Amino acid sequence: MHVSVLASGSKGNSIFVEINNTRLLIDAGISARRISKSLLGIGVDINNIDGIIITHEHRDHINGLPTLCKKYNIPIYSRAATFKAMYCLEKLSMECLHPIKDNFQIGSLSIDAFNTSHDAADPVGYSVHGKQQKCTVATDLGFVTSTVQEAIDESDVLILEANHDQKMLREGNYPWSLKQRIMSNRGHLSNSDAAWALVRMKKHNPYVFLAHMSEENNCPAVAKQTITQIIKQQGINPGEDMTLQFAKQNETVTLPANKFI
Ligand SMILES: [Zn+2]
Ligand SMILES: [Zn+2]
Repeated sequence: MHVSVLASGSKGNSIFVEINNTRLLIDAGISARRISKSLLGIGVDINNIDGIIITHEHRDHINGLPTLCKKYNIPIYSRAATFKAMYCLEKLSMECLHPIKDNFQIGSLSIDAFNTSHDAADPVGYSVHGKQQKCTVATDLGFVTSTVQEAIDESDVLILEANHDQKMLREGNYPWSLKQRIMSNRGHLSNSDAAWALVRMKKHNPYVFLAHMSEENNCPAVAKQTITQIIKQQGINPGEDMTLQFAKQNETVTLPANKFI
């Protein structure tokens, strides 16, 4: 299994996943040019991508789609309501669009879409299942519903949102309406809520990318402190029972090559 988070945060998100020779992008919120360049950096030709699966229609998840569709003709999979709500729908060729139900197949992979609580048309996260591996993406979450918790359980690799520190958000410079949106049940997940989802996870030794981190209301040192403190108190040793890695906005972060082959 190869997993690389090409970009993560409010300025754009895209994740590359390859399992059993099927290659996917999950979200395409950075430019097609940058996606192509980042893929080359990890030895992948963009022409060999089998599909793009989209979580929801916010721009930081779809900005690269028009060019990816036009130039490379890559099939795009998402909920019908998500396609309908895309600002760039007119620029996408109908042939590229594949509306999905809760389970679908791309190449050798079986993919589950699970509903998330977020302020978009029909937002989902994804669990990608190979023969023996499971990789789950759960970002842009107002809170961790029982559906989300069930989906992240048993994941070998998990990309989980740790968006903000509650105190930094409350005391920060954002207008009150935006603070309320982020904190609401349909907004974004805080560091401590991410930690509790990890504590409840049924899996030994998962590799976790902490993702969609706010540049205004969070920082790696604070997130690390909050999350490790909570999981340690619950008997989980970071580094031994679970590996934590931070995804980045402007840099590719890759799963170590010897993990979950
Ligand atoms: Zn969003
Ligand atoms: Zn987002």
